[in-house]
Amino acid sequence: MTSLDDLSVTQLKGVGNALAEKLAKLGIYSLQDLLFHLPHRYEDRTRVIPMGSLRIGDVAVVEGDVMKTDLVMGRRRSLQVTLKDETGFLVMRFFHFNAAQKNQLSEGARVRCFGEVRPGRAGYEFYHPEYQVSPPPMPDEGQATLTPVYPLTEGIQQPRVRGLCQQALAYLRRYPIKDWLPPELLADYQLPAITDAVQLVHLPPANAPVHLLMEGRHPAQQRLVMEELLAHQLSLLQVREQIQAREALPLLPTGELTRQFLDSLPFSLTGAQRHVLSDIRQDLSQPLPMLRLVQGDVGSGKTVVAAVAALQAIGAGAQVALMAPTEILAEQHFQNFSSWLEPLGIELAWLSGKVKGKARQQAREKVVSGQAGVVIGTHALFQDDVQFQRLALVIVDEQHRFGVHQRLALREKGVGGTLAPHQLIMTATPIPRTLAMSAYADLDTSVIDELPPGRKPIETIVLPDTRREDVVERVRKACREGRQAYWVCTLIEESEALQCQAAEVTAAELVERLPELKVGLVHGRLKAAEKAAVMESFKTGELDLLVATTVIEVGVDVPNASLILIENPERLGLAQLHQLRGRVGRGEQASFCVLMYHPPLSQNGKARLQALRDSQDGFYIAEKDLEIRGPGEVLGTRQTGMMQFRLADFERDKGWIEPVKEMAPGLMESPEIVSGLIRRWLGERLRYGDV
Ligand code: ADP
Ligand code: MG
Repeated sequence: MTSLDDLSVTQLKGVGNALAEKLAKLGIYSLQDLLFHLPHRYEDRTRVIPMGSLRIGDVAVVEGDVMKTDLVMGRRRSLQVTLKDETGFLVMRFFHFNAAQKNQLSEGARVRCFGEVRPGRAGYEFYHPEYQVSPPPMPDEGQATLTPVYPLTEGIQQPRVRGLCQQALAYLRRYPIKDWLPPELLADYQLPAITDAVQLVHLPPANAPVHLLMEGRHPAQQRLVMEELLAHQLSLLQVREQIQAREALPLLPTGELTRQFLDSLPFSLTGAQRHVLSDIRQDLSQPLPMLRLVQGDVGSGKTVVAAVAALQAIGAGAQVALMAPTEILAEQHFQNFSSWLEPLGIELAWLSGKVKGKARQQAREKVVSGQAGVVIGTHALFQDDVQFQRLALVIVDEQHRFGVHQRLALREKGVGGTLAPHQLIMTATPIPRTLAMSAYADLDTSVIDELPPGRKPIETIVLPDTRREDVVERVRKACREGRQAYWVCTLIEESEALQCQAAEVTAAELVERLPELKVGLVHGRLKAAEKAAVMESFKTGELDLLVATTVIEVGVDVPNASLILIENPERLGLAQLHQLRGRVGRGEQASFCVLMYHPPLSQNGKARLQALRDSQDGFYIAEKDLEIRGPGEVLGTRQTGMMQFRLADFERDKGWIEPVKEMAPGLMESPEIVSGLIRRWLGERLRYGDV
């Protein structure tokens, strides 16, 4: 039987090869794909708004007569069309226009237009609004429907996508969409059938409750949201199932190396560390691949846990790979692990993207021959030219930086192809529970919920940058007393070059103002060896003050540093600030974090810095961040590889998370449902199902 999935978009009027290619960029090939290209919001164009009542930022329909049309020659040539109704004026401004448009918009023409109100030279303006000349009458109240707004790609305009979706709806009657969800389940949650839901969201009926639709809380939208969350959950469970269908080398603990190592440490493990290690010990001794996430707040001591896990693997004659997201962090792990493991007779290898030529050749040989028990580096570790002799454990630090896809790709590098490596993933940025469920459904979780004893709380101070003088004095005083400090420069992320430049300027300024101090500088544009050298001299105490960009965000561990100054903290996410702050408070002395913002602070900005000042609990901070900024920003895909949703919104839809988690395992029994839902919602985007 033909289904919507078998019908190509080229069936539709007006879709030729060129448009089909553009649609393919949105992952749309079939009519079903098109109908699952869902509106992410609606516009209320059902009413004409009097011009006199518009406010900046309003998105509205207005209607009036053209009073005059001028060609304005300012910095950029533009066409300025002034409309009036009984209540006021509004200017439509076009930077791109042709002669026909200009003629059409001549004095006296009746125009209806839709746009966003902005302040302009000539009063309130719409830039490039959608408009109609001599518009048909507005539909009667109660007849009008909301206008769906779709995600777009380059070269496709909103009205085009809208038109195609409407065309596709005509097929829906002949070829209903397969409903994968059991009817009992839909009844339980009072959700509509899939075909009805899809129809409704593309073409909301006139009597549909506007506010529910605008907020995404209409049952039809909720039906789709739930299905989307379910599809994501199922895809991760499927990955897990596929991994666990493979065997792993059981790594039986001998205890000998571990004992020697623990005896060599100047401290004993916290209860939480021991607890997590017992989970790991269990997992590793199974012939199934471990898939474990260790969450632990900044400074909770994840590295030692990783080392003990590594020793269990080495003790069983296997190799370990440890991957970190940045050179600095990888380098630091390499130093720590070398100082811990070399005395036990274990060799290490170092591999980052910057290790090239002969050095790389040598490192590779140590790895493939099995001479190196532990290999540490950045993701360069998993490039094709690196072969392991007997890799049985992969440790990934700060993995949210890598993202779901990279993590899954790693699983390919097993022992001899058939055996899968055990995986230990460590993350410091606490992931709010709601997000964690969906990003890590394929992992078991252990939490290090205790900090090593004797840590003093970090006092956080929020100051405007008009107090810079005082802050510089504070740095002077701390360093005079024999402690060390960080000075972190931030800029908007896009330009690493600018960020580095800002750090250089700041460092020069501080050298001048603090002549008695030794000041170092580290940023992303330094060569790895230069970076390492600066970090090393800060670590040994040769440098008093380290000026840095956010490259020092993760993992850097210098217990004698007790003051961190962060410029423009309002530009960073709370989780990132929490990470940065965690660079201090690692030793015995009282520590301080100064957040020096550039006034004025927005309401939001104030709330965020306050959350940070009030708490040192990473989980609390993460939840706050989510609440204040929303998940898109907390965990943007670009940064994290976190999945992106078409409709679901973590904050609004968190009520589904538990039900979806409960439903998923039962549905895993029906492979047809699982693959149907995954294909529908994740389609071409996620191929890791066949990793
Ligand atoms: P993170 O979890 O942020 O990666 P680290 O592993 O870098 O934390 O540990 C932070 C610091 O705490 C390191 O200097 C480490 O040696 C120290 N540390 C780890 N575990 C303990 C412990 N049980 N007692 C005292 N200090 C510890
Ligand atoms: Mg760490």
